Amino acid sequence: MSNRREFISKVATICVAGLSIGKLTGANAAMVSESDPNAKALGYVADASNAKGDKFKAGSNCSNCALFQGGSGDAGNCPLFGGKKVAAAGWCTAWAPK
Ligand code: SF4
Repeated sequence: MSNRREFISKVATICVAGLSIGKLTGANAAMVSESDPNAKALGYVADASNAKGDKFKAGSNCSNCALFQGGSGDAGNCPLFGGKKVAAAGWCTAWAPK
């Protein structure tokens, strides 16, 4: 009986820890859509090669932007888009060098 209680307690602890880590890392955060009004206003594109306008500098993208945070892999956070993630290969007119 003790082993069963201990097992259930450990499973519950692992589940709570997993949920907490997910919240902290924004693992389930949605990606910014190019059609999002805020994204449109900033000229955000998920692929910098599709960027238009004279503000775009060759080689610039979200992954080398000063505002890009905590990126791991293909996406990261940008304070300009609240809780949504931006593509590491993306770009917007607010890009600033790191
Ligand atoms: S501010 Fe930087 S990180 Fe945020 S969307 Fe624009 S280019 Fe990407």
